[in-house]
Amino acid sequence: MTQSSTALVTGANKGIGFHIARLLAARGVTVYLGSRDPARGAAAASEMSGKVSVVPLDVLDAGSIAAAAEQIGELDILVNNAGIIADGGAPPDSTVDAFRRTYETNVFGVLAVTNALLPALRRSPHPRIVNISSSTGSLAGSAERPGSGGSGAAYRSSKAALNALTLFYAQALPTFRVNAMAPGLRRTDLNERARTADGDPAEAAEGAVRLALLPDDGPTGGFHSWDGTTVPW
Ligand code: NAP
Repeated sequence: MTQSSTALVTGANKGIGFHIARLLAARGVTVYLGSRDPARGAAAASEMSGKVSVVPLDVLDAGSIAAAAEQIGELDILVNNAGIIADGGAPPDSTVDAFRRTYETNVFGVLAVTNALLPALRRSPHPRIVNISSSTGSLAGSAERPGSGGSGAAYRSSKAALNALTLFYAQALPTFRVNAMAPGLRRTDLNERARTADGDPAEAAEGAVRLALLPDDGPTGGFHSWDGTTVPW
């Protein structure tokens, strides 16, 4: 990747996305800071140095996605970071609505944003897509831990679906590098557990930046931990 690269990070006004945007800008990448609230986006951008511009982007809103794609035009790196936890229950204690709300952001939002930005990414000589997933979405990991009782099923299965999407995008776009990253537990506003966690979100962001700046012969279609190790599907 070159100094003239451009990147869009969704949900970059806070948390892990904020640090991904900040670190990419610090490395000379021109960053489009996606934020569904432009004022919160502007406040975040004011804390970064480098070339950063705010793009109003709600991944649930087709009009907002289309406007962002039109504003951006050319893109080298897409980081699908925006995500939510809507419900913490196991399937028997959960609702279709909780699953639907979670999938709308964590799965359908990624599909909608990625497809809208594909024309811009196809103009890049080195297109990269990084999907911010979760180790809790690892089916192999979940099978090894039956003691979880299937808790967090909506969120965890949404990240399993995101991992599947990552693999299928990589297979459909062989000249791209498309990867999923598990950030580990980080202190952010994602949910109560994250709010009280010790993990530094900036450390996880370094892992995403590494995947965003992969060389052309770097891995694609993988599920990577923030520290570069492989996470089982
Ligand atoms: P966070 O601090 O809550 O940040 C989430 C970001 O996503 C915010 O900027 C939020 O915007 C944005 N967002 C939510 N819905 C959106 C929408 N419809 N359109 C656009 N942006 C939207 O949480 P985080 O921990 O940094 O989460 C970032 C990613 O890391 C998520 O995909 C999450 O699943 C993943 N992750 C986090 C952890 C952890 O321990 N923190 C662990 C594993 C995976 P608003 O400010 O407007 O709400």
